[in-house]
Amino acid sequence: MPLGQDIVVLDIGGTHIRIGHIRNTILYEDFEILDSRILRVTSARRELQIIIERYVKQHHLNLNAAVLGMPAMLDRDNDIISHCNNIPQLQGQGLKRFLSESLGCKVFIEQDVMLQVLGEWQAGAAYRQASVFGVYFGTGIGAAYLLNGNPENELVQDIQAGHIPIMAHGKVCKCGNTDCVEAYACGHTLTALARESGCPVEDLFIKRNHNHLLADELDRFILYQAYLLATICTLFTPVVVLIGGGIPKMQGYPRDELLQKTIKQLQKPYPAESVRFVWSSLSAQSPLHGALALLNRE
Ligand SMILES: [Zn+2]
Repeated sequence: MPLGQDIVVLDIGGTHIRIGHIRNTILYEDFEILDSRILRVTSARRELQIIIERYVKQHHLNLNAAVLGMPAMLDRDNDIISHCNNIPQLQGQGLKRFLSESLGCKVFIEQDVMLQVLGEWQAGAAYRQASVFGVYFGTGIGAAYLLNGNPENELVQDIQAGHIPIMAHGKVCKCGNTDCVEAYACGHTLTALARESGCPVEDLFIKRNHNHLLADELDRFILYQAYLLATICTLFTPVVVLIGGGIPKMQGYPRDELLQKTIKQLQKPYPAESVRFVWSSLSAQSPLHGALALLNRE
């Protein structure tokens, strides 16, 4: 069967797999959401194939390509996936070839955060900017640096900005090291604070000034996030810093304070006055736009 026009897009996260598609360049944003645990099996590749085939059949798609966003490091030339900590069963060599042969279409595998940043570059808050450093504060901290819309630039691959060390308190990070900024300033930090303070996690920022513990801890939480952004600006001086993820979308999250604290740490006047901070604007649709950007590069 000849290749069709349709694209299936999978955003594979540690908790959920979100599947959407593009038919004749129309974005279908009603994502199907699956539990990522279904891939934590030895036959993960085969499961992935089955998930995609079922979705394609259900939506009567005639596939041109499958695009996968994955929380992992990629060796594109050798078709190798590593550091896929949440779904280690997908690691190893040959996933792209396996899927492309079994599905009979083109397959693109991209880092999950890069796919989102690409989406914002294609159609969102970072539209066509020459250099975009994306930082996503969610369950963990994801980061990707997109130069000239090219996600394959080898000079800026796999920048693990969430694992920059910042403190010396010995706090263990999910990566196994201690004192990564992620250990102090991500969703896990908020979950622990909610437990400790008895305040529901979704109310943390709203009730920030109700008690000293919350006020102190959240002051530092924002400061550590600002330190990370300031470090990125100082080292990379991107035109745009794109901030995304679930945490900045929480009720009461002090976006202005984050930017003030970041700029305070920057050298004046440059990059303090040159770098532009933007907030991710596409949310759920960003991987779909990112997929279009990837296909347009062909
Ligand atoms: Zn770490």
